[in-house]
Amino acid sequence: MIIQIHEDDNVGIVTEPAGLLAGSRIDDILVKEPIPMGHKISLADLKQGSSVIRYGAIIGYASGSIQAGSWVHTGNVAPADAPVLDDIPLTPGEITEEAPLEGYTFAGFRNRDGSVGTKNILAISSSVQCVSATLQQVVKRIKAELLPNYPYVDDVVGITHHYGCGVAIDAPAAIIPIRTLMNINRNPNFGNEVMVLGLGCEKLRPERILTEQESRDHDVLYMQDKDLHGFSEIVQAAMNKADRLLTVLNKRRRETCPASDLVVGMQCGGSDSFTGITGNPVVGKAADLIVRAGGTAFFSEVTEVRDAAHLLVPRASNRLVAEKLIHELKWYDAYLRAGGADRSANPSPGNKAGGLTNVIEKAMGSVAKSGSMPIVDVLAPGEKIEKRGLQFVATPASDFVCGTLQIAAGMNVHLFVTGRGTPYGLAPVPVIKIGTNSDLSQRWYDLIDFDAGRIITEQKELEELGWDLFRLILEVASGNTQVAADRLGLHNDLSLFNPGPLT
Ligand code: CA
Repeated sequence: MIIQIHEDDNVGIVTEPAGLLAGSRIDDILVKEPIPMGHKISLADLKQGSSVIRYGAIIGYASGSIQAGSWVHTGNVAPADAPVLDDIPLTPGEITEEAPLEGYTFAGFRNRDGSVGTKNILAISSSVQCVSATLQQVVKRIKAELLPNYPYVDDVVGITHHYGCGVAIDAPAAIIPIRTLMNINRNPNFGNEVMVLGLGCEKLRPERILTEQESRDHDVLYMQDKDLHGFSEIVQAAMNKADRLLTVLNKRRRETCPASDLVVGMQCGGSDSFTGITGNPVVGKAADLIVRAGGTAFFSEVTEVRDAAHLLVPRASNRLVAEKLIHELKWYDAYLRAGGADRSANPSPGNKAGGLTNVIEKAMGSVAKSGSMPIVDVLAPGEKIEKRGLQFVATPASDFVCGTLQIAAGMNVHLFVTGRGTPYGLAPVPVIKIGTNSDLSQRWYDLIDFDAGRIITEQKELEELGWDLFRLILEVASGNTQVAADRLGLHNDLSLFNPGPLT
């Protein structure tokens, strides 16, 4: 069998493990030659020079005539030109109108600022790495001694990091880690209550990661406070402060919220050749449904989308958004250049053997998780989402660096696609892990939450699995279904993106 990702595609992807045999049929198309799994079959007669379309996008041009049922590969497709950012027109492309979805809800925790949490968590932030070990002990004691008294609070999370001491605090790039820490505090799952443990002599003053209002409402606890004698008094002071906030958080209850309050962050890691065939396209379908329901879905990972820039820019809802997208991609190009990193030759021989014809096709496999809706905003690393709809949050692709920035962006549900398998998990937000193949999903039956490999093993339609995933998101957001990472307590450390200098 084959899979056609987008209705405009004139190629399909072979999903039979043994490939397609010459003389077999796909509907009314006669297969002309053997075609290996993961490779493309032409679904139409293509004249020389005609566009080869996959993911609804031109990935190249037929270098000769290609009959329907033939193998479409590196040898008969001339690549589309690599995108030069300054050459990309900023005019919005045609936007597909989809009917809004009405009536979908989940049970969430409504916050003062209007956002909605999918968990009710006490977060304790920190202004400097020096206090990390102390904070970890404080959190451990709160969990053991206080949390049992507050049945409506789900968890206590310490926001620890490697920043704050010896940093060039006013260097332009320092704004990224600073605003990341600031916006993590405002993640909807932390109920608009903030508590910060500081040391006292750090460069990063705790006030810089709080708004003025927050600074007034929640005084910061400094370990170097002259009134605190010895470690036990410091820990007790932190626990007293936590106790007051737990009382506030414990009064909160889930209430019915429209699906438009979802803020779903999407990422992939530990990818394989199915990531662009099953996992990311299923996530893209779910993203379309979230946006049609009025909610927010966002994708990230600049290095993964860079080569599809010319296909993403026309999806920007207006010129300003297009300019912001170009700006973020250029910023990252410069960041990589400054570090002496070149964007290594793509795709790799392994990619080609797996059926990827060129770099544009590879990038499209990654951006498939963005679905098909217009991009209504673009955010720099560490910024918080302010609009609803599909958005791009510029981050590195590195898994936990990206996830940390996505928490700062305000996600309340996280979708993570993996092919080779990763135990990825974050304490602040439920992470729905999506296996791209049924082999992994079955082998890691208690680590993977959703098997997108059923596209192949059970011949499920993308649309159907997109709906299944959308419904799972609502269940997880409501606290009715626990994700594997939470069940197993797999919560990795956050990882702050700091492109700025240390002193
Ligand atoms: Ca990643």
